[in-house]
Amino acid sequence: MKFARFLYHGESFYGIVDKKIHPITGDVFGEFQIRSEGFKSEEVKLLPPCQPSKIILVGLNYLDHVKESQSSNIVPEEPVLFMKPSTSVIGPDETIFYPDGVERLDFEAELAVVIKDRCKNLTPSSVPDHILGFTCLNDVTARNLQKKDVQWTRAKSFDSFCPLGPFIVDKIDVSNLKIQSYLNGKLCQSSNTNRMIFSVEKIVSFVSWVMTLLPGDVISTGTPAGVGPMQAGDTVEIFIKNIGTLRNYVKKA
Ligand code: MG
Repeated sequence: MKFARFLYHGESFYGIVDKKIHPITGDVFGEFQIRSEGFKSEEVKLLPPCQPSKIILVGLNYLDHVKESQSSNIVPEEPVLFMKPSTSVIGPDETIFYPDGVERLDFEAELAVVIKDRCKNLTPSSVPDHILGFTCLNDVTARNLQKKDVQWTRAKSFDSFCPLGPFIVDKIDVSNLKIQSYLNGKLCQSSNTNRMIFSVEKIVSFVSWVMTLLPGDVISTGTPAGVGPMQAGDTVEIFIKNIGTLRNYVKKA
């Protein structure tokens, strides 16, 4: 199924997408019914597909990106975790604000996991039972601030630095999916999730060893090589096969 969150006449709903978007009644993370009435895509405004209490991300999870990011080429022995605040999340077609004081603002195409229920200390084999589905995430990064600081909180956390969407898709094999980014229509990153160093199961298990995960929490799995800078006026798109395209616009804050 393909889950969406959307606004219709000022009210927000979760829904299931087929030819139309059908609102649900009940709990998207539990029991729900799909209403037969459906809206056309132009009748609704898509929202971020979930409202995470926290967003946990993995750095350096594709070998080619490890090589382009650091001269040492040291491959991590364990997933390297960092976080973004919930206030950084924006939805499809929304604006990424280019903050004053940032000299280089990069896009990073990533596959993100959306957690289904409260969970802790998962084994890798039990992870699929706790995933609602998968979506696209753009790990927007103030690269000059990331290089300046010892850790990455400032560089990763400005408002609008976590575009998410357009949909959450369940029951797909994410071990072998094309992942790409486009800037103003030009292909920038093109890779496959089969090049990840740590698998989705390993990453979610590892994170759940550290912290309790809640319904709607997002775990992002790192970016492949080819990251690059954005300017005000640019359009950036993240594409993942079987999920869709997440499009956002860059403007001066
Ligand atoms: Mg990243």
